[in-house]
Amino acid sequence: MAEPNIATLNSEQDVDVNEIKAVLDAHRAKMKLSLKVCAHCSLCAESCFLYTNTNDPKYMPSHKFINSIGKLYKKKGNIDRAGLEEIGDIVFNRCVLCTRCYCPFGIDIPNMIALGRQICRSQGIFRQYDVE
Ligand code: SF4
Ligand code: SF4
Repeated sequence: MAEPNIATLNSEQDVDVNEIKAVLDAHRAKMKLSLKVCAHCSLCAESCFLYTNTNDPKYMPSHKFINSIGKLYKKKGNIDRAGLEEIGDIVFNRCVLCTRCYCPFGIDIPNMIALGRQICRSQGIFRQYDVE
């Protein structure tokens, strides 16, 4: 369930899976490589202030990108609105795109999360304060 500060426009409409797939296709190689390279070593965790402030695994950078854009990639874009709102919660509420997270394997985690935001916005899912 999305947290309250996610705003959903057209909440009764199904998501446009073809539109999501188009974004995924445009970035497929980069996403595939990032997911393949991630060693689940957790070394990125200490570079994210949201994780160090909470010690909550769901704020770990790797957890955030694997469960947002990684999930969309694995599902080939086949997701319903509730599922996409959960991803919106991750990419809007659990990351500020400060770009401080460091992965020794070179994964550009903020870029992955930004792609998740792009897909959410394409389906009318925003941060609440963006639509007020
Ligand atoms: S993103 Fe990088 S640092 Fe983080 S768990 Fe994956 S390989 Fe390790
Ligand atoms: S970009 Fe997101 S995941 Fe990376 S350090 Fe900043 S808040 Fe954490």
